[in-house]
Amino acid sequence: MSYEVEKSDAEWRAELSPEEYHVLREAGTERPFVGEYTDTRTVGVYSCRACGAELFSSETKFDSHCGWPSYYAPLAGDSVEYLEDSTLGMRRVEVRCKSCGSHLGHVFEGEGYGTPTDQRYCINSISLRLKPAE
Ligand SMILES: [Zn+2]
Repeated sequence: MSYEVEKSDAEWRAELSPEEYHVLREAGTERPFVGEYTDTRTVGVYSCRACGAELFSSETKFDSHCGWPSYYAPLAGDSVEYLEDSTLGMRRVEVRCKSCGSHLGHVFEGEGYGTPTDQRYCINSISLRLKPAE
């Protein structure tokens, strides 16, 4: 698998904070309700904190009360990639940035949220950076 943005482990460690590195590069999970974008309603675009690719829009962000920023769709279908994740004894679908392969979070579906897709992209705040609209 190759990505548009490829860096060595040492380069990622130098560019990211230890917390960012853990989530983005080691598929860690931020604790719920502490992320900086959990309840953010600012209009803008959320980019990958590792490579800057635009990933989610505030337009699809919704209030899921799950403790992490939640979106019902990515900005564009091909901006993220999906991987089967069977850690923690659960079958989940991991969401990664398609440009650099960094871990973003997971996507769940069929939970009954009243959104157009019935999907919940449950994304770590620390994997994203919000660029507010002008
Ligand atoms: Zn990225």
